[in-house]
Amino acid sequence: METMKARVLRAVGDLRLEDYPVPELKPDEVLLRVKACGICGSDIPRIFVNGTYHFPTIPGHEFAGEVVAAASEENKKYIGTRAAVFPLIPCRTCNSCNKGVYETCKHYDYLGSRSDGAYAEYVRVPVWNLVPIADNVSFEEAAMAEPTAVALHALRQAGVTIGDTVVIYGPGTIGMLIAQWAKAWGAGKVLLVGTDLNNYDFIESLGFHDYFNASHGDPIEWVMEQTNGNGADIAIEAVGIPVTACNCLDSVASGGKVVFVGNPHGDFTFPQNTYWQILRKQLKIFGTWNSAYNNTPQSDWSVVVDAMSSGAVKVKPLITHRVTLENIEEGLEIMRTGSEFYSKVMVIID
Ligand SMILES: [Zn+2]
Ligand SMILES: [Zn+2]
Repeated sequence: METMKARVLRAVGDLRLEDYPVPELKPDEVLLRVKACGICGSDIPRIFVNGTYHFPTIPGHEFAGEVVAAASEENKKYIGTRAAVFPLIPCRTCNSCNKGVYETCKHYDYLGSRSDGAYAEYVRVPVWNLVPIADNVSFEEAAMAEPTAVALHALRQAGVTIGDTVVIYGPGTIGMLIAQWAKAWGAGKVLLVGTDLNNYDFIESLGFHDYFNASHGDPIEWVMEQTNGNGADIAIEAVGIPVTACNCLDSVASGGKVVFVGNPHGDFTFPQNTYWQILRKQLKIFGTWNSAYNNTPQSDWSVVVDAMSSGAVKVKPLITHRVTLENIEEGLEIMRTGSEFYSKVMVIID
């Protein structure tokens, strides 16, 4: 049996470097030689706290690589294809799947949590999930397609009209990707609100200069100053805590739109006055989950790989750390402890 190098989660906190069997392919699948795989924020609790759905599992769902084998004769044409991968495998029988809204599938499989992912030299991928990339898009950039699509999907819930002011609470990886999409989409102003934990030099280096440190003042006052007292057209909550959720509702103008992106940390309670804002300002509140995927040019994933190729969205500056399968602990540790500033930690697999 052929083996490959892989990081295998054997138990919570036990991510071993092993010689592991190269995956066997189902008829509709190809074998992808993984070249780069991002460590997602969600991988930290997955590895260290909650574990995966069963053990052993190879984590890693933000990846790209090259097709090196196919199970069926008709899929051999994909060999040599450089591709990013939509990691969700839909059930194709539930109500969401029947409507083509695969991101809300009820019984999905997922590469890197429910099935083996890409902290490995090889991963099996259904042909349907392959997103071919242009020659000028590198593998590590393509491995950013998943968070970039999540960011696009979030902003798409609200939609941007040219000239809109968009305020983003939480300038982390997803927040800064949403900021880039807002700019690319024609937002008049992109306002960023962070705390002492955020790195403002980093935000500057990405070309954004309108930011506010909420550790040292009232962000709502600042947003009002920036918008002639009207409030923003769109507010994005990319932290997942009650105070930023309230700030979003308080920061938007009448008829404004608020998108909740951040995974919630604990329960949410709204002060009565903030709740009144929803009613009095006739706000529109959107949730967003994962990203939309299909074979049209308008699909989140098609837009993402096209924007990477054209340069409309730049993801390379977001990759702050590079590790390998051998020293992946160093990257995981930085993310787990926050011992130094990071945006995306990328596992390079050569
Ligand atoms: Zn992720
Ligand atoms: Zn389904």
